[in-house]
Amino acid sequence: MFRLFSSGVDDLVLVSNPSNGEVTSQIGARFDRELIYTNIGEVLIAVNPYKSLPITGPEFIKMYQNASGSDASPHIYALAERAYRRMVDENESQCVIISGESGAGKTVSAKLILQYVTSVSPNNSSGGSGGGGGNGGGIPQYDGGSDDRPAPPMGRGMGMPGMVGRGGLPTRGAPSRGGGPPTRGRGGPPPPIPQNRAAPPQPVSSGGGPPPVARGPVAPPPTRGGAPPRGGGPPTRGGRGGGPPQPVPSRGGYGGGGSSRSVDVEHIKKVILDSNPLMEAIGNAKTVRNDNSSRFGKYLEIQFDDNNAPVGGLISTFLLEKTRVTFQQKNERNFHIFYQLLGGLDQTTRSEWGLTQATDFYYLAQSKCTTVEDVDDARDFQEVKSAMETVGISREEQTEIFRILAAILHVGNIRFQGEAPASVIDETPLQWAASLLGCDPQFLGQSLNHRQIQSGSARHTQYQVPQNPDQSAGLRDALAKTLYERIFDFIVTRINKAMSYSGNCKVIGVLDIYGFEVFERNSFEQFCINYVNERLQQIFIDLTVRGEQREYHEEGMKWKDISFFDNKIVVDLIDGNKPPGIMRVLDDVCKTVHAVDSAAADIKFMEKLIHSIQSHPHLVISNTGSSADEFTIKHYAGDVSYSTEEFCFKNNDNLYASIVGCLQNSTYQFIVSLFPENIQDNKQAPTTSSFKIRQSSSYLVTRLSACTPHYIRCIKPNDKKQPMNFVSSRVEHQVKYLGLLENIKVKRSGYAYRQLKDVFLNRFGKIMDVQPRNVQEFVEYITRTHKDINADEFEEGKTKVFVKNPETIFVMEDLLMQK
Ligand code: ADP
Ligand code: MG
Repeated sequence: MFRLFSSGVDDLVLVSNPSNGEVTSQIGARFDRELIYTNIGEVLIAVNPYKSLPITGPEFIKMYQNASGSDASPHIYALAERAYRRMVDENESQCVIISGESGAGKTVSAKLILQYVTSVSPNNSSGGSGGGGGNGGGIPQYDGGSDDRPAPPMGRGMGMPGMVGRGGLPTRGAPSRGGGPPTRGRGGPPPPIPQNRAAPPQPVSSGGGPPPVARGPVAPPPTRGGAPPRGGGPPTRGGRGGGPPQPVPSRGGYGGGGSSRSVDVEHIKKVILDSNPLMEAIGNAKTVRNDNSSRFGKYLEIQFDDNNAPVGGLISTFLLEKTRVTFQQKNERNFHIFYQLLGGLDQTTRSEWGLTQATDFYYLAQSKCTTVEDVDDARDFQEVKSAMETVGISREEQTEIFRILAAILHVGNIRFQGEAPASVIDETPLQWAASLLGCDPQFLGQSLNHRQIQSGSARHTQYQVPQNPDQSAGLRDALAKTLYERIFDFIVTRINKAMSYSGNCKVIGVLDIYGFEVFERNSFEQFCINYVNERLQQIFIDLTVRGEQREYHEEGMKWKDISFFDNKIVVDLIDGNKPPGIMRVLDDVCKTVHAVDSAAADIKFMEKLIHSIQSHPHLVISNTGSSADEFTIKHYAGDVSYSTEEFCFKNNDNLYASIVGCLQNSTYQFIVSLFPENIQDNKQAPTTSSFKIRQSSSYLVTRLSACTPHYIRCIKPNDKKQPMNFVSSRVEHQVKYLGLLENIKVKRSGYAYRQLKDVFLNRFGKIMDVQPRNVQEFVEYITRTHKDINADEFEEGKTKVFVKNPETIFVMEDLLMQK
């Protein structure tokens, strides 16, 4: 009955026999017509076109704003509209989870979401005096549904992906009928809703429907910037395992009069938007995959007050790739900020700081690539400085930051030779570095060619162990990376301070983080990022599948088990405590083995792994001999083999006491303030990278779990950054690792369609000559007159009717049309 059109369906839930290949060809067929967006229920798939398409900007924002979320064709603005609208209508926090491999378009997507949300939200806070809230660009204010939008959803789970569009006609849609590709060239931008008329009734509404748990507004986390404890109780969501509870105010505390204070919303919007180029300067770099690759994960929460105006924000960052400071592959660059500094700094300061050109500094020169096509580093430097101004980083502080960056470049030029303790080949870079860091050059030199080791039972005794040239170079790089990381954190903290808001609020969070990574050779970094993705998948399952089941339960329906792979077993394999998971084993080895010899530690790790986790259905260690250096995890998205080389070294991430000591003696107060730790406190267990990742992903999971999620899965169509070139094999790989089939299965495993009984009968009752009095009458009629429709296609709950297959709806639609 249901036909697939050559242009592809705009909701992949409707693909009859979903396979990775079929999904790929559907996406490809649409892409060829410049339809880069496709839905899976409410999940948005976005394929990077690598060229600017005329489908974004104020005009389009306006159009999507005026279309109800359920009406609109698949588009990032439609998703942003759904998120914002849901927040307004339901007073619930929302989050947008964007994943995909490097270069797939995550960061561009995140920016489009921010652009949308800042455009459609009002410019005055609830505490403000009003002040005639027109917002920039003449975009109409969002007033949460007083216009001709459909009324707020009547029941849970049924508002958004409206089975029945506003006009009431869920016509099935041949995109071909809907009038051709979105036009370029036809004069005027295409209306954004063309495929929509083509849109079939959106199946599985509650895929996106809020799980029937109360979701309170989210408070800024207690750990940062002085959010005072709020009146709210504990999180109201019952029975969810999850991470450590974060104080989330209950709805009772919402909108309390006390918090009402005026906020300069326009300024907050400016901070939110301006922080982007600043974050990109310090966190992005040119890689072989992407000229502007984010080398960190970012979660930005925008906080909204009662007036649904953005009144604050909070950025959390994950897994900054700080090794990039000291090492880049050929044809890649260091973080943008270094080149911007060299290009944009005034001449006087440059000579004062000994800055020449990029090729003179090893940290920038080694990769033989210092420029990026179409990028003007000097101009970008001005933008960065102005963004710093916006977020309240003073001129003096800017100078402090830039001086440290200059110092890092000189640090990279320090070379060692001879026996341990190694000696410096050329004193000049050491002198420069020391002077810019406000340290004594001799002291700095000594902290690089000696390592301080504590020993003895109470670790009271300290030894200075002389280091050979290689080891000294390692310490030198550790110094550079640490300095960089502290600057990065300082800037993030300041941005957060500029956006901090302490009143009650709800949020829209945007998560821009690497998706599953599978390379030919996978190391600790992939292990960590894939672990975070496993945890994100848990949220996905938790919120969609369990939410779906809760709805059946509420509707008093027979329990219908949704079969899906619950990846908790993989998460436990990685981060479990008892029995010990892989990270726990790794931490134990790092604690006991003095990681002087990192290769020996890796061997030990492998031994322990084999010993402690002998048989696990998701762990494969094919070589259990003494040369074992690889293990395979069967992730939810597929198998990934990890090489254990350097696992211990990377996990240890030690901050060397002697280096910190040196910097704490700096004559620059700013530098001293970046190193507040007490290095004499030997009892403090050194934290490992895997510990930090567990901690920050738990934090993330807690934050995200308090929100209604919206998903964007970004896909990179080719590896050459070529416009409109769709390489099927590359896409199919991503379709697999993004777990899209799993998405589709989850969405299809329940009911394709659900609707309130009245609405259902009003509509489909027209098929009959006499309006049916109840659902049963209708089902009797339709199964009697249409032999290919079975009675078990329909299920009646307390308030709704559920229909299993989309095809059934199409048949009924055809019948309606014939009437
Ligand atoms: P990611 O963050 O996933 O690594 P980006 O968002 O930085 O990838 O995108 C990489 C590049 O691809 C961008 O710099 C831009 O040139 C191009 N690109 C991404 N998304 C789009 C889009 N929607 N339209 C046009 N070009 C895009
Ligand atoms: Mg990015």
